[in-house]
Amino acid sequence: MKAILLGPPGGGKGTQAKKLVKKYGIPQISTGEIFRNAVKAGTEMGLKAKQYMDRGDLVPDDVVVGIVEERLREDDCREGFLLDGFPRTIPQADALAVMLEKTGRKIDHVISLEVEREELIKRLSGRRVCRNCGEEFHVMFKRPKVDMVCDLCGGEVYQRKDDNEESVKNRLVEYEKQTAPLIDYYAGRSLLRSVQGVGGFDEVFERILKSLGE
Ligand code: AMP
Repeated sequence: MKAILLGPPGGGKGTQAKKLVKKYGIPQISTGEIFRNAVKAGTEMGLKAKQYMDRGDLVPDDVVVGIVEERLREDDCREGFLLDGFPRTIPQADALAVMLEKTGRKIDHVISLEVEREELIKRLSGRRVCRNCGEEFHVMFKRPKVDMVCDLCGGEVYQRKDDNEESVKNRLVEYEKQTAPLIDYYAGRSLLRSVQGVGGFDEVFERILKSLGE
């Protein structure tokens, strides 16, 4: 399966992506995670991306497209992959179509998670993440068993710098302006599978599977 997981920040892409890649045995390509790892490693690309990420702005298209193109060339992506957080603009979507065409591949499904703005703000401002494995927690809905310690791997649970109030607002504005138009873009290509993203993790996952015809 070659699929895209589309949705607003805080829409639950990360959580659902992890469930999908486990079920289908395909790699998850999360551009946000690639950037966070590059920031942690202090690479040149990481330093460049950090300026944009901290403000809640999008990293320039040419940087993101180059990274995804390189990743999609790797062997484990030959049979399938799940793109999580890419594309986020129309030029990125066009670039993706071109890079896949070069290798005779195309996207099968675009899963679009739909969540209202109020809910997104609530989710993002209380979100906490494991610095080590990326598992997500929430100060109200999903607290770690031991304060600030990941239930899964024992890593440090922290608040992402771009989950502060100002960056969250900016990310939502950027989403509406740059990413939401992709919904019509993929609907026009008969690839869109719209899924209501509010509810329990398993409930939303069941809806996704149903939208894929499972
Ligand atoms: P995410 O973890 O998907 O919320 O991404 C975190 C941040 O990484 C975003 O707010 C952007 O600054 C940057 N980023 C991730 N994916 C992209 C993308 N496809 N295009 C531009 N910027 C991105």
